[in-house]
Amino acid sequence: MVNIAIIGAGLSGLTAANILNEHAKVTVFDKARGPSGRLATRRAEPYNFDHGCQFFSAKSNTFKEFLAPMLRHGVIKCWNANFVEIENRQVTKSRQWDAQSRHYVGSPSMNAIGKFLSQDLHLRLGTPVTAIRKTPAGWLLKGESDQDLGQFDWVISAIPAQQAEHLWSEDMSFHAKIKTTQMAGCFTLMLGFEAGFALDYQAALVRGEDISWISVNSSKPDRKAATSLLVHSSNSWATKHENLDRDEALQHLLTQTSLVIGQDVSHADHKAIHQWRYANSPKRSGETYFIDHATRSGACGDWLIKGRVEAAFTSGYSIAQDILRQL
Ligand SMILES: Cc1cc2nc3c(=O)[nH]c(=O)nc-3n(C[C@H](O)[C@H](O)[C@H](O)COP(=O)(O)OP(=O)(O)OC[C@H]3O[C@@H](n4cnc5c(N)ncnc54)[C@H](O)[C@@H]3O)c2cc1C
Repeated sequence: MVNIAIIGAGLSGLTAANILNEHAKVTVFDKARGPSGRLATRRAEPYNFDHGCQFFSAKSNTFKEFLAPMLRHGVIKCWNANFVEIENRQVTKSRQWDAQSRHYVGSPSMNAIGKFLSQDLHLRLGTPVTAIRKTPAGWLLKGESDQDLGQFDWVISAIPAQQAEHLWSEDMSFHAKIKTTQMAGCFTLMLGFEAGFALDYQAALVRGEDISWISVNSSKPDRKAATSLLVHSSNSWATKHENLDRDEALQHLLTQTSLVIGQDVSHADHKAIHQWRYANSPKRSGETYFIDHATRSGACGDWLIKGRVEAAFTSGYSIAQDILRQL
């Protein structure tokens, strides 16, 4: 049986792995302790925060079909939030998300999606891949301290562009294309309130500020009762301040949040910050994955299309279909 390594257990890698798993021996490597990538959840008892992706939609029928079993099992549910847009610190638009507009989240947490998709896979978690070497017998993957992670016929990277750029050697046919992709960062502020926190909305898109998004995380379906508020910085502020001390970033985002919502959040009982170096990427046209049939290698990920969940799915799905045709 053909032996395939997939680096990255985010949605793109897990999608590809599930498709290939019936036809090949697939191993998925991830440096994190759990699968799901940016479909992420941070626990800080009694609070829960989806500190990466907030929600997603499904446009293509292929993606809708892929989601159907997760909807049936309750791993994905609709988040019927009262959504607003904020500009000049005023609510300028407001609408109720409902069954017609379908804004999906993982349930009871965003990372439930990665856990569900990992059920039948051979996953090696907590295992960063540090090098990919071409050998006469195929591909040799290396881990920390030059540890051998195994020999494979095919290798697919399913990780953010900048991380893939460092992993693949410059003579790979798609290396130059990976290099042209820039991903933007994001700081995420996580706040917990023991006595609750009153807001007239559950999700807000913020324009023209250093913060770009506010959500009442605990308003998503099946979340813990304890009130959790989640704030994303704007991508431009995060990229400009990527080396800022975390405490300074936290204080700045606390102040900005208080100003934007018109209520002081500095008294939150729980305050934490997370920095995403590779959070988002602009829309691009062209290939939805890179593949080199001759060397049996490839790259997928949201960044080939756009920094969105459906894009990650489409990229992982498409590379797997291509490889299936080669098997
Ligand atoms: C702050 C934020 C907000 C977002 N909001 C939304 C939103 O509201 N709606 C939406 O549709 N999308 C949103 N997104 C984007 C969405 O989360 C991504 O498009 C999608 O999850 C990307 O999936 P992926 O598989 O391409 O990559 P990832 O999820 O990044 O998966 C890559 C995996 O590779 C692993 N990895 C990296 N390098 C290595 C290595 N060397 N060895 C082993 N493992 C490695 C990582 O640990 C990770 O698990 C958001 C993302 C962020 C960060």
